[in-house]
Amino acid sequence: MRLILLGPPGAGKGTQCKRIVEKYQIAHLSSGDILRTERAAGTDLGKKAQSYMDSGALVPDDLIIDMMVAAMKKAPKGYVLDGFPRTMVQAEGLDKALARAGEKIDAIVNLVVDDALILPRMTGRRSCPKCGAVYHIATLRPKVEGKCDKGCGDLVQRPDDTPEVVSNRLKTYHHQTAAVVGYYQKKNAVILNMDASREISQVSKAIFQKLDSLK
Ligand code: ADP
Ligand code: AMP
Repeated sequence: MRLILLGPPGAGKGTQCKRIVEKYQIAHLSSGDILRTERAAGTDLGKKAQSYMDSGALVPDDLIIDMMVAAMKKAPKGYVLDGFPRTMVQAEGLDKALARAGEKIDAIVNLVVDDALILPRMTGRRSCPKCGAVYHIATLRPKVEGKCDKGCGDLVQRPDDTPEVVSNRLKTYHHQTAAVVGYYQKKNAVILNMDASREISQVSKAIFQKLDSLK
């Protein structure tokens, strides 16, 4: 199965992807996670991406397309793309790569959530820098405050989850990314619009029902 998860930052894409990959045994390809790994490793790509990420802007399309196509090639059993594509150019780049590989996307899960819910979700997000687990100070609390449940140690707040950068990321989403849904509508792709304002497990249940009915 090959899926794309769309939605604004903080909609719950990463949270739902973790559940999707566990159930359907496919790879989770998060452009944001891959970029953070590149930065932590100090690679050329990580260095190039740094200033864009810190300000809430998008990393240039050519870097992202190459990075994601390379990741897709390493996932022969299927994947869910999280945070990609984020521009029309990326969507077109993805289409070209899929055509070259003779593959297609089975469905697009579009998480729909009002901007008003985004700020508290993102400023309350806490992540484990070691295993990548994501928590929330109110809606998904770790067993011990500030510590990863898997014993990795301290949780951190992402530097781009401050109110100022969140506001830039939301603007970027509305200016550059929201239209990607329209791109797939025009192509008559299977788009599953999901109300992501609900509680995490209710959203997962609704997504699973839709995906199961596609099989
Ligand atoms: P994204 O990957 O879309 O940026 P995340 O999955 O990291 O978003 O979720 C952002 C924050 O909101 C996290 O702290 C997560 O625990 C929390 N969250 C995710 N989904 C929900 C939900 N349905 N209700 C409340 N909080 C949520
Ligand atoms: P995320 O973890 O998805 O919230 O992404 C964090 C940051 O990484 C974004 O604010 C962008 O700067 C960058 N980024 C992630 N995915 C992309 C993408 N598909 N295109 C451009 N920039 C991206």
